[in-house]
Amino acid sequence: MIFTPEKCRIPDQRMKPFIDAEEIWDILGSTQSDAASVREVISKSLDKKRLTLRETAILINATDPELVEEIKQGARMLKEQVYGNRIVLFAPLYIGNKCTNNCSYCGFKASNKEAVRQTLDDKALISEVEALEDNGQKRLILVYGEHPDYSPEYIAHTAKIVYQVKKGNGEIRRVNINAAPLDIEGFRIVKEANIGTYQVFQETYNPEAYKHYHLGGMKRNFEYRLTSLDRAQEAGIDDVGIGALFGLYDWRFEVMGLVRHTNHLEACYNVGPHTISFPRIQEASAINFDGKYRVSDEEFTKLVAILRLAVPYTGLILTARENPAVRSEVMRFGVSQIDGGTKLEIGSYAESLNEKQDLNREQFHVNDSRSLNEIIDELLRDGYLPSFCTACYRLGRTGEHFMEFSVPGFIKRYCSPNAILTLAEYLEDYAPEATKLKGYEVIETNLVELEKSHEKVNVPEIRRRIEYIRAGQRDLYF
Ligand code: SAM
Ligand code: SF4
Repeated sequence: MIFTPEKCRIPDQRMKPFIDAEEIWDILGSTQSDAASVREVISKSLDKKRLTLRETAILINATDPELVEEIKQGARMLKEQVYGNRIVLFAPLYIGNKCTNNCSYCGFKASNKEAVRQTLDDKALISEVEALEDNGQKRLILVYGEHPDYSPEYIAHTAKIVYQVKKGNGEIRRVNINAAPLDIEGFRIVKEANIGTYQVFQETYNPEAYKHYHLGGMKRNFEYRLTSLDRAQEAGIDDVGIGALFGLYDWRFEVMGLVRHTNHLEACYNVGPHTISFPRIQEASAINFDGKYRVSDEEFTKLVAILRLAVPYTGLILTARENPAVRSEVMRFGVSQIDGGTKLEIGSYAESLNEKQDLNREQFHVNDSRSLNEIIDELLRDGYLPSFCTACYRLGRTGEHFMEFSVPGFIKRYCSPNAILTLAEYLEDYAPEATKLKGYEVIETNLVELEKSHEKVNVPEIRRRIEYIRAGQRDLYF
């Protein structure tokens, strides 16, 4: 049993709110943190067990720099022992920025009259996907404002188009969605389009703070948003992504909120979230944000390490909101997915705009605007294995992070070989010569490691498949 059942003041019931702000503050306020308790909690996590709220609070309350370093070291160890060196790559694709809500931190809010409102029509959508495929992308997350135009039928329609676009050897093999919460029927319609993960970020788990920032539209309803991924589960979408927008409220409370959301989903559906996102607020057009709860780099790196330890079997997503230096540091704590070659202006992948970012055309400012290939170069240099793998979801092995974590040898038998094969495809089809040379060196190092491993890994078969890819075959996976 690696789920840790936990009795909370509000008992977990499907589609019923579960956050008790007072309880979270009580736990944070009453939990003592000393070297012995911090070490005990870290070792529970290294033992592959999810932490309780109280244990998470022990890590949050540790302020002694040496203990914080031990927490970070624990997160690095967990990553190395469990997940190895793969990093999955994806890109966001903004479909439309019409919005009826008024989230004070967002450039798309209805009251922002400076925002240039656009929605990709089918032709423009196809051009965007072709441009992304030409860069080597295989996994996208489609992003939408909240507006009657972006109905479940429309979201499903855009996802289906994306899957149909094939250019050269390019194709998108996994489409994830970040859009407004839906009702159960709406989630069913979107599921039909074969989507991967459906993400809804709670933004802040504190109901009072939530009220303060969400001033108009459907999104004002805290509880409807809080229970949205329960409805997704009811509709059969079992890959769901949660997140908090760090900077709206006290980061310590938000980390507890994310853990509480995780244990709620586990209690009700026997499966936690597929991924957790932890965006930090960035500059945006007409933003109204006083910075009281701004999260420093130091706090941010600490909170990512705590999340890694608190939910050892959940994927962590780090986006281009962060600058390359912060990204490089927190990747060592076990981030599993990052975006690369990111552009947020609607229509900009095909237009090759973005020499200068235009805040009125994007939701917020990105701090890492490097191309996908530049990101891959850095990953290869730092000893990571970039991956475009989509095998689990296509073979019906949903909940892959859980399997990576809990099935002995799963990573070596499936994830690493698939990372190698998808990287080889990228190197053949899209990489400049220098990246190709370096990439095949990294592949060879990883193959030698797999040969040495005690797991039953069929390395000759991986080598054979690499040769097939060099000869022109595509989409080979285990
Ligand atoms: N409109 C949908 C919604 O609000 O759920 C779709 C997602 S919105 C386009 C994507 C996410 O971007 C939001 O959930 C929020 O966490 C994040 N976001 C909004 N404004 C931001 C800002 N100024 N800086 C960083 N992230 C921001
Ligand atoms: Fe609209 Fe989403 Fe931006 Fe809020 S965060 S204003 S709902 S696009």
